[in-house]
Amino acid sequence: MAQRNRLPEDMALYAAAPDEAVLGLAPLAIGFLRRNAPFPTGKTPALFRARLLDFCLPAHTLPTRASAEACGLGCGRVPPFLLHEQTIHLGLGEIRVIGGDDIFAAPTLIYHYITEHNYRPPDPFIHAVLNGPAPGSPEHRALLHTLRTG
Ligand SMILES: [Zn+2]
Repeated sequence: MAQRNRLPEDMALYAAAPDEAVLGLAPLAIGFLRRNAPFPTGKTPALFRARLLDFCLPAHTLPTRASAEACGLGCGRVPPFLLHEQTIHLGLGEIRVIGGDDIFAAPTLIYHYITEHNYRPPDPFIHAVLNGPAPGSPEHRALLHTLRTG
């Protein structure tokens, strides 16, 4: 039976970003988890998690909605916390990660899914977070600028 849930599977074209498809970016969805849908679990490198959190800083995210989204696995809203004197709201906004072949779109909640629910995203995403342009780099800033103003 096909998934009736509106949330995309990992590595599926992220259809919620039609503007990005027009620009030729067509990001792949990662980490849009919800209850009653299985997801892969396992260890992830500490460096990956640290770098992923940097992508979740407000300066590096794309705004999506006015109010924070709750954990898709049933924890409720994730309390905001401070990093580098900035407040991180997991559940607010999305991140974009530039890989060698693809751009990935993920909810900021992905950090919560990984650290609290043992979610292990696909290797190409982990590789892109570790080896792609860092948040704040010229390439990543340019991508966000294009998407925010596009
Ligand atoms: Zn949760």
